[in-house]
Amino acid sequence: MVIGVTRTETFGNRFLEPGSRSAELFQRARGSLPGGNTRTTVFSPPHPYYLRAGEGCWLTDVEGQTRLDFLNNYTSLLHGHCHPAVVTAAQAQIARGSAFAGPSGAEVELAELIVSRVPAIERIRFTNSGTEAVMMAVKAARAFSGRPKIAKFEGCYHGTYDAAEVSVGPDPAAAGPSDEPIGVPESAGLAPETLESTVVLPLNNRSAVERLVEREADHLAAVLVDPVPARAGLPEPEPGFLPFLRDLTSRHGILLIADEVISFRLGYGGASQRFGFQPDLVTLAKIIGGGFPVGAVGGGADVMSVFDPSAGKPRVPHGGTFNANPVTMAAGLATMRLWTEAEIVRLERLGDDLRTRANWTLEEAGLPFKLAGQGSLFHLVPVEAGRDYRSSLPDAATTAQRRELHLRLLGSGVIISQTGLGCLSTAMDAPEVNEFVEALRASALAMRRS
Ligand code: PMP
Repeated sequence: MVIGVTRTETFGNRFLEPGSRSAELFQRARGSLPGGNTRTTVFSPPHPYYLRAGEGCWLTDVEGQTRLDFLNNYTSLLHGHCHPAVVTAAQAQIARGSAFAGPSGAEVELAELIVSRVPAIERIRFTNSGTEAVMMAVKAARAFSGRPKIAKFEGCYHGTYDAAEVSVGPDPAAAGPSDEPIGVPESAGLAPETLESTVVLPLNNRSAVERLVEREADHLAAVLVDPVPARAGLPEPEPGFLPFLRDLTSRHGILLIADEVISFRLGYGGASQRFGFQPDLVTLAKIIGGGFPVGAVGGGADVMSVFDPSAGKPRVPHGGTFNANPVTMAAGLATMRLWTEAEIVRLERLGDDLRTRANWTLEEAGLPFKLAGQGSLFHLVPVEAGRDYRSSLPDAATTAQRRELHLRLLGSGVIISQTGLGCLSTAMDAPEVNEFVEALRASALAMRRS
């Protein structure tokens, strides 16, 4: 049964009050989880709000406060929480069994659906996360090309696989010139050769990208690009930049991997279709699993054949106890069937409206932010943010202000991420956009007064 949610009258952030249920749970969590946490992204000081239930576009925390959810588990829920068709599909599958040592019909159907939508995907394989999808794409590219290195863009996140954990959020002071960035490890403990085998490129800078890729061309297996990278504040690709990258990589026999874990939301056939370029491999996750853990790597039949076990041991073996788990596949299928052209267009219009009105509000309040983004995705970025990582990076004072705005929005009943990422779900319409703009206005004015 879906847990009912009713909106409370009063707001504020009860989870921050001494003795709150969230404070208590966090105290307990510290005894068994490092820093009380098992997902870095959702930690926020002094402690996060613990969640109890969601329905549609509403999310209720353990204090009983219900807010509008503009984060949707970091953009992974297309239809909000507990869409009846998704709940029915998942429950029906759980009742038949949740995990088998063998493939299921739903796996074939979801694969067919994605192949039919995305021009670049002829074959696809499912994983359990976007991180795994990127890991398998990089391995496939190395296996196919016989080359060791990959290139990625500064300020872009692709999960927690070593090769991608370079220059994700570097301090520019330690990252070299902007047109020739130095690789900076995002994490301690990366494999020792990681920095030498990952080349870092500046976003949307054609001449620098051309120079750096050509210098390393003989060693590069792949260039990994997120068409509209969320971690960098959703900067729009410079017109023609992605097709340019396609041409450049093709000329040098380098594979192009489009990481669409988030940007797949941007069109019926994903971001590559929207921006008119044909990557060799595409990585997916989040939305395609209907709210369950998922990932996928897809691409041309030639490259994807490195995984083919039908003629003996594949060049890239890819086991995984929960790959294409039947519950995930059933929920993903129900979810993607409801992600129609009409709904995508509707949310794009709603998103345009939200961005425009939010930007008026921010300007009126004199806060140093604007709302960037496309389609159903948005991101609060510094006013001066351009199309590269470094200009999108807030300084310490602006970062503190953005966190305060996030907390004030929460206190006004609206959820976005603490770094300013948000998205729409199909459970939303004009009233929810109005509520967002109202909450933003109230929060921004309160900040200006304080
Ligand atoms: N790539 C991108 C572009 C992402 O945004 C993310 C996650 N936010 C990942 C990869 C990793 O996906 P997951 O969290 O499912 O491992």
